[in-house]
Amino acid sequence: MRASEATTYYFNKAADQLQLPEWVRKLLVTNKREVTVQVAFERDDGRIETVLGYRVQHDNARGPMKGGLRYHPAVDLDEVRALAALMTWKTAVVELPYGGAKGGIGIDPKTLTKREMERMTRSFVDQIHEIVGPDSDIPAPDMGTNHEVMAWFRSQWEKYHGFNPAVITGKPVEEYGARGREEATGRGVGTMAVKMMKRLNIRPDQCRTAIQGFGNVGSHAGKYLHEAAFPVVAVSDLSGTYFKPKGLNIPELFSHVIKNKGSLEGYSGAEKLPAEDLLGLDVDLLIPAALGDVITKSNADRIRAKTIIEAANGPIDPEADEILEARNVTILPDILANAGGVTVSYFEWVQNRQHYRWSLDRVRQELDRTLTDAFEQVWQEAVTRKVSLRTAAFMLAITRVQRASELAGWLI
Ligand code: NAD
Repeated sequence: MRASEATTYYFNKAADQLQLPEWVRKLLVTNKREVTVQVAFERDDGRIETVLGYRVQHDNARGPMKGGLRYHPAVDLDEVRALAALMTWKTAVVELPYGGAKGGIGIDPKTLTKREMERMTRSFVDQIHEIVGPDSDIPAPDMGTNHEVMAWFRSQWEKYHGFNPAVITGKPVEEYGARGREEATGRGVGTMAVKMMKRLNIRPDQCRTAIQGFGNVGSHAGKYLHEAAFPVVAVSDLSGTYFKPKGLNIPELFSHVIKNKGSLEGYSGAEKLPAEDLLGLDVDLLIPAALGDVITKSNADRIRAKTIIEAANGPIDPEADEILEARNVTILPDILANAGGVTVSYFEWVQNRQHYRWSLDRVRQELDRTLTDAFEQVWQEAVTRKVSLRTAAFMLAITRVQRASELAGWLI
């Protein structure tokens, strides 16, 4: 199933529950604007490279559109469309005053030098600067981009429009970025795991947890859960699965990865298994925090965990979702589970607009409050309507976007 079909599938499942008329569905799933641009830039050896860049703006009924920029060879219009719509539902479910967008360039950033990456980013901004801005569409980092790319983006955009750091989030902390942005998504995943286990009456120290992916999201989620007394028994990355039934020493793994250019390779404090074994381990909580589409109908039967938190975007495809739902596996969906990142991005935008800087403590407190409220609302909706957490999250999000469109007179 293509990425955009999966998002539409989940949308329709919730829309059926809400008995949404066909004309409303069409209005809510159709993108406001889709832009494909030529991005031409100079390689260090003087050659001109030409690639395609995309920005899809899905919906702005609830506020300016918000969504990341991804540099990855798999980036195409279909993937960007799916991710743009997910952003609309994600910002609505945590009640941020935003709509949804996404963008990117179909290139492997590992094939570029730093200077080439900068020239490519500036060329991309030259093509799309008129359609993004602090009041219209605010990009952020995603796979293959980072705070440095955000700083180049801002600098190029400001050449056209003047000083305004709120045009983009995920900037370096010393360049109008927010404290706590880097840990935010993983911390949010951890916060919600704690709430979810409380609701399910499972004690943290009895919740054996496995995390797929030990990058930004997986490592910070692991750190938070370790501090909250969860035995994190397995973590994995491309190099393999690292398994210790009594619980891994997460701080040790954290420093290992920092010293080892981001990889778990060579860690000797645990048993090493093949990377793909992580999904089938006998654990209570499984957190896929690496990539999309890792749980499909071909491996859903291997999953033994009774609860899953989708830290990555789209790790479970709709067919696998049906299989797991039929087996009563409780799944916290991506649009809620990984919303910590966009929430702190929102705090960064707020700080930029106020020319005021929050402390790390304040960021953490506001993040905790925002995500706790959203979690409790989704949980309550699922209980009241007798639907899955995913359908409940989509139902709340759709209702909010629908209401905003209605209040604005539909034709915004
Ligand atoms: P990252 O690149 O920092 O980390 C990805 C990790 O996954 C790495 O450890 C990598 O080795 C591992 N990995 C890749 N393929 C794997 C495989 N086949 N098996 C096991 N491990 C594998 O990325 P990230 O920023 O942590 O993002 C992870 C996911 O979370 C992505 O789906 C991303 O879209 C989503 N997400 C990230 C953020 C954020 O703020 N970073 C926000 C929302 C959603």
